[in-house]
Amino acid sequence: MEEIPNGEELKEKLFYKKENGWNNTDKDKREKIFAFGDEYMYFLNRSKTEREAVKTASEILEKNGFKHIENMEKLNPGDRVYYTNREKSMYIAVIGEEKLEKGLNIIGAHIDSPRLDLKPNPLYEDSEFALLKTHYYGGIKKYQWTAIPLSIHGVIAKTNGEKVEVNIGEDELDPVFVITDLLPHLAQEQMEKKLKDGVSGEDLNVLIGSIPYEEEKVSERVKLNILNILNKKYGITEIDFLSSELEIVPAFKARSLGFDRSMVAGYGQDDRVCAFTSLRAILNIERPKTTAICILSDKEEIGSMGNTGMESCVFDLFISELLNKTGANKPNALENVFCNSRMLSADVDAGYDPTYASVSEKNNAAFLGRGIGLNKYTGSRGKAGASDANAEYVAKIRHIFEENNIRYQLSELGRVDLGGGGTIAYILANKGVDVIDCGVPVLSMHAPYEVTSKFDIYEAYRAYETFWRV
Ligand code: MN
Ligand code: MN
Repeated sequence: MEEIPNGEELKEKLFYKKENGWNNTDKDKREKIFAFGDEYMYFLNRSKTEREAVKTASEILEKNGFKHIENMEKLNPGDRVYYTNREKSMYIAVIGEEKLEKGLNIIGAHIDSPRLDLKPNPLYEDSEFALLKTHYYGGIKKYQWTAIPLSIHGVIAKTNGEKVEVNIGEDELDPVFVITDLLPHLAQEQMEKKLKDGVSGEDLNVLIGSIPYEEEKVSERVKLNILNILNKKYGITEIDFLSSELEIVPAFKARSLGFDRSMVAGYGQDDRVCAFTSLRAILNIERPKTTAICILSDKEEIGSMGNTGMESCVFDLFISELLNKTGANKPNALENVFCNSRMLSADVDAGYDPTYASVSEKNNAAFLGRGIGLNKYTGSRGKAGASDANAEYVAKIRHIFEENNIRYQLSELGRVDLGGGGTIAYILANKGVDVIDCGVPVLSMHAPYEVTSKFDIYEAYRAYETFWRV
């Protein structure tokens, strides 16, 4: 008679086990996870806009021996270069031993986040308040942006070529700004509205002042007083707003979350969590076999269009420059490079939230603390618009992660038919690159204060480094 195998043993052998990553992390690994979390929060606090992220990243790169590609005439294996596209996006490379035409290992994240931009003519006075009109950037829930401390970041470009940098509301001694909301006592009508209409786009007006200019005869005295302050502080007049990019972001600092400090709460983690972990990982890459490329792109939240978005040809130009400077350019070289390349599209994943469990299908949801999240495909309602990774490529990535003991999970964004989303994955996939989405799961994505797990952040860092190393 054939022996019936022990059920527990058989289960152990056959089932795909999904386990909390904090299990089996020893003291040494936990220390590394927490130290990395601190480093990440430091980066977040200094990088609240795409321009600030580029600035911080450039400083980090320069300190670690990366040179601007313009300063390099020739490139050899082991050379470390970067290119900054209009202060808003970046491409970074460590040249590998193999010929570029054999392909690249690309990791691409984005450094723009949902926020409120000022309108071109933002400043007005109403009922002895000075306010700023805004136009939101990316997918936000508007009601979340009222009654929280806000800061203003960005640049004002003047016609004489001068550029004024603005960063106010972050320092403890700075003032903050706020968008007011209605008191509940008088909000009966507002509360009857649909959540999406409770606060409208034109209600997102930032309160910035209330003292009238001293001379009583003049009109719009509060606005005048504010312009006078701005003129003294930044040397600008009202017309200079026309050529400015001023972004309203939450003034909160990134903080450890929970009694156990296991998570990070902070603004702009979509997608600076993948931007930082990949940036940090490429610093460890010395002389890889395959050339390592890191992309920090802009405009992902509004469709990747424009000359700093991933749809632009500037990235192609960067790769062409690598071909030129390694002496490997020839007809169709660029197309060949792309068709032989692999990519992790490093963008965040929706984390499973027990309070909103109904939007997820538990077997195919990403959980905080279970490691980096892979999405074979994105898109919405029948995979429309999806970049769908080939099974062979998924197997290759699985192999790399499993060999190197990297905790990963494979999930979908949410329940079928409920919605969906996309990343920059399809843009590179369209060029012939093998691409899979691979990032950190987030709770409250696109909210002013997002939540991630320090375990997943550290695992993302390890995953990205390993991808470039093998
Ligand atoms: Mn994103
Ligand atoms: Mn997003």
